[in-house]
Amino acid sequence: MPVKTHSPLSHHTHDCDFHNHHAVFSRHKMSMEDDMDPYYFIKYLQTIPLPTSRLRNVLGEQTNAQQKTLVLDLDKTLVHCSSSPLPNADHTFSVNFGGSTFNIYAKCRPHLQEFLETVHLMGFEIVVFTASQSVYADRMLNIIDTKGRISKRLYRQNCTNVNGSFIKDLRTLGRDLRNLTIVDNSPHVFAYQIENGIPITSWHDDPHDTELLRLIELLNIVAVSDNVQDVLNTEFQLQEMIDAITIDEYTAFLRKL
Ligand SMILES: [Mg+2]
Repeated sequence: MPVKTHSPLSHHTHDCDFHNHHAVFSRHKMSMEDDMDPYYFIKYLQTIPLPTSRLRNVLGEQTNAQQKTLVLDLDKTLVHCSSSPLPNADHTFSVNFGGSTFNIYAKCRPHLQEFLETVHLMGFEIVVFTASQSVYADRMLNIIDTKGRISKRLYRQNCTNVNGSFIKDLRTLGRDLRNLTIVDNSPHVFAYQIENGIPITSWHDDPHDTELLRLIELLNIVAVSDNVQDVLNTEFQLQEMIDAITIDEYTAFLRKL
């Protein structure tokens, strides 16, 4: 998607479009080399202190303290949208933003409705946390969530800006992080709570994509676990992967930043 300076869609300085280079569902991991880019960037972010956010408890009171919370990214995780025409778009709509009207062309990731229904039945509190603007995200979510399965929506203003990157600071949500997981195609957004993250491949238009079905399999385990972080540490070992980056590799990466 072309970057537009004032687009309501999520773009920011360091949102390197990682595409499929971070396909770290370990069951179909690609080569180490392909996987690594976002993790170099996470290593870099982890050297910068995360600013304390003035936001607190943005999800409000929890009715059941044992309930697991599933935080979902929107763009390229659940849908792919563009302000340029997409062939075979599932939905089109226009939004006004910054005094301009944007035509939005949207495609839904395969199995999206089945996914939302299944994780709802599994008992998750479902939250969408997007770095996009609410003026776009609300229109998109109204279209995909006709049954009201998503209980809360968080937008760009809920992100924390770290050197131009929109970070999703899970501490602001007011939930026990042992009961929470975030799914995002840009893993750097959870750089500071890496043990809560589930990286997913970026989706653009592959009609045969089955990542959401794979995700259901993993969430079946998460749903009944005592500690989500333990499950995800075992599944992905993301911090170990970041720690294994050598100084030479890291230095070479920094030179490209
Ligand atoms: Mg995304």
